[in-house]
Amino acid sequence: MPDIVNRQVVLASRPEGEPRDENFKIIEGPVPDCGEGEVLVRTIYLSLDPYMRGRMSAAKSYAQPVPIGGVMEGGAVSEVITSRDDKFKQGDIVVGSTGWQTHAVAKGAYLAKVGIPNQIAPISTAVGVLGMPGMTAYTGLLNIGQPRPGETVVVAAASGAVGSIVGQIAKIKGARAIGIAGGKTKCDFVVNELGFDACLDHRDKDLASLLAETCPKGIDVYFENVGGPVSEAVFPLLNNFARVPVCGLIANYNDSAPPPGPNMAPALMRSILTKRLTLRGFIVSDFAEQRDQFLADVSNWIVEGKIKYREDVVDGLENAPRAFQGLLRGENFGKLVVKVAELN
Ligand code: NDP
Repeated sequence: MPDIVNRQVVLASRPEGEPRDENFKIIEGPVPDCGEGEVLVRTIYLSLDPYMRGRMSAAKSYAQPVPIGGVMEGGAVSEVITSRDDKFKQGDIVVGSTGWQTHAVAKGAYLAKVGIPNQIAPISTAVGVLGMPGMTAYTGLLNIGQPRPGETVVVAAASGAVGSIVGQIAKIKGARAIGIAGGKTKCDFVVNELGFDACLDHRDKDLASLLAETCPKGIDVYFENVGGPVSEAVFPLLNNFARVPVCGLIANYNDSAPPPGPNMAPALMRSILTKRLTLRGFIVSDFAEQRDQFLADVSNWIVEGKIKYREDVVDGLENAPRAFQGLLRGENFGKLVVKVAELN
């Protein structure tokens, strides 16, 4: 494909603390040949997600880091240009982990056709409410959180890609949904648009007492998205037999070492014992076999108006590094995606 110029965002250096512009570099080069079983795609929407901060770091994790000079990892919705895999043809819309680049050659086995029923939502949602973040909310809440009618479910980053769906599914299951988000605008959206019962600002210095007032019967499910001071406000309010799906700890993603301060572990272990808490970490891929059920349920809930979603769309691949830095500071409002190209 000599005529196509591929633009890529590569990892220039590993960040210390918050990622900065100089940790990323934009390069241009040719598109590789498409081998047997491979598919050449052009990126339409690139998904930006908090886990990418982990891939920028060399620290041991559940996945390999991006090497220095390597293309930043990321899921994307793309259009097939050429296919040497029988399952795909030119013009198909696919989703896969094809990275921060305008074009990619990927093994067909690692791509899935975007099949959003009856076009109920735009194709960008294949990396949002009908993609990885939506499935994270659905599987983490239903398998681990297991909310029951009348129970209280608390979720932070409540206006974001995962949290917004967690609270709405909690409501569908008959629970009370309490969000925690950064600022009044996001909190208003969480209550007025998404239908949560209440939402508190995590920057409020009285968060702990406000949360206690808002959850007079305690907390039965805490969907852990952030860690840090939010968790510290929530944990004392957990009821006996509460469930805590540990999904993410974004408040600590920029730390190179555990934060200084009081050691929470002994108190935490004590409450796990005395309150018989269930804390379970999970990665969405643990529940891969539930994908069809997730897509069927969430699609129906969108059609029925029970699930709403908000996207924060940034234009142009070159703006991905800045948008990603903003995500870690709470500057996104909804699921963050980069529109890399128009769909003709
Ligand atoms: P969001 O769309 O919610 O964006 C991240 C949000 O996190 C920011 O907008 C900000 O919202 C909030 N935030 C950032 N720093 C802090 C802080 N110090 N304290 C409180 N809130 C903070 O992201 P996602 O919905 O995609 O991800 C949410 C969480 O889920 C992340 O921890 C992510 O790593 C995790 N995740 C885990 C998966 C898994 O398989 N386990 C899969 C997908 C996501 P605000 O302005 O409200 O503070």
